[in-house]
Amino acid sequence: MDYYKAEYIWIDGAEPTAKMRSKGKVVPKGEAPPVWGFDGSSTNQAPGENSDCVLNPVFVCPDPIRGGDNVLAMCEVLLPDMSPHPSNTRAACAEMAEKFGDFDTWFGIEQEYTFFDGIKPLGWPDNGFPAPQGGYYCGVGSDEVFGRPIVEKHLDACLQAGLMVSGINAEVMPSQWEFQIGPVGAPLVADQLWVARWLLYRVGEDVHISDSPNKGVTARLDPKPVQGDWNGAGAHCNFSTRQMRENYEACIDAAEALGRNHDLHIANYGDRIEERLTGLHETCSYREYRYGVSDRGASVRIPWQVHRDGKGYIEDRRPNANCDPYKVTELILSTVCSAAS
Ligand code: ADP
Ligand code: MN
Ligand code: MN
Ligand code: MN
Repeated sequence: MDYYKAEYIWIDGAEPTAKMRSKGKVVPKGEAPPVWGFDGSSTNQAPGENSDCVLNPVFVCPDPIRGGDNVLAMCEVLLPDMSPHPSNTRAACAEMAEKFGDFDTWFGIEQEYTFFDGIKPLGWPDNGFPAPQGGYYCGVGSDEVFGRPIVEKHLDACLQAGLMVSGINAEVMPSQWEFQIGPVGAPLVADQLWVARWLLYRVGEDVHISDSPNKGVTARLDPKPVQGDWNGAGAHCNFSTRQMRENYEACIDAAEALGRNHDLHIANYGDRIEERLTGLHETCSYREYRYGVSDRGASVRIPWQVHRDGKGYIEDRRPNANCDPYKVTELILSTVCSAAS
């Protein structure tokens, strides 16, 4: 039989932050990856006596790990009656995107993350800390940059999968990095971001550090991986409606609308957001809301080019690295498009 392999990827029911799961299926060539199922009692998604959950592929792309004709199938989780499972945040996001489809909203999400070698960030000394922050952001050289081979492998994997990845950079805290997905509409931007996260974890499995007792490098989306004077990790969400791409007033209106709904957004932008949005380290405190041109200490930044051109997009700097991009984009669509309707 001629076949290909489909790796089914889904988001589990772990609290307070969901984890990614996947399993492989052998599919006859010529057929699309079918609806499948899994044991929800092992993923905090169902009780043991009624454990079946349904996997519905929503985004299928080439599998850069297995290569060939093999694919990755990003799935949403359904109940056996084909209605969305309570852990399925994509369904509401898709519904909101449909409702406000006329706005033609684009999203570009900057995913920050940190590499770990066992219990410490990759490349950090066994005892103590590296030199204070300052030279690491977009740095070069083995005293400043840790994990670049994994970053390059991950970028290639995203490109081979056909994801709309727009760039990568080393971040302010050593061993912290970023990649960006977008600009693209919802829920597709979130489908792709989840696949890119899965690829990051998967690529790390295969990279072994020669002097480390640990097998592989782990990537973590922890919003504050190291306490103290070290930057947290976020997932800035840049977005624009068609109106905003044509008119500065619409950009200001969007920033104002987000301010009127601040608490709801903060409550849905990732667990432990208070630890990251302290008012230090290029953040605005979660207790206040401000927007400003070029202001990296604001909740929402208007890029200088947008101010100069009188149109474009704005950046919501509040989402945590561990946010659910279905939730973030759903809320932005709801808040910004209802206010402009
Ligand atoms: P920063 O200066 O904050 O580090 P980045 O270059 O990392 O910015 O990310 C900017 C993101 O904004 C990219 O993902 C890009 O695709 C996205 N972007 C650019 N233009 C738009 C737009 N008009 N609407 C939505 N997103 C956009
Ligand atoms: Mn960035
Ligand atoms: Mn960044
Ligand atoms: Mn940013």
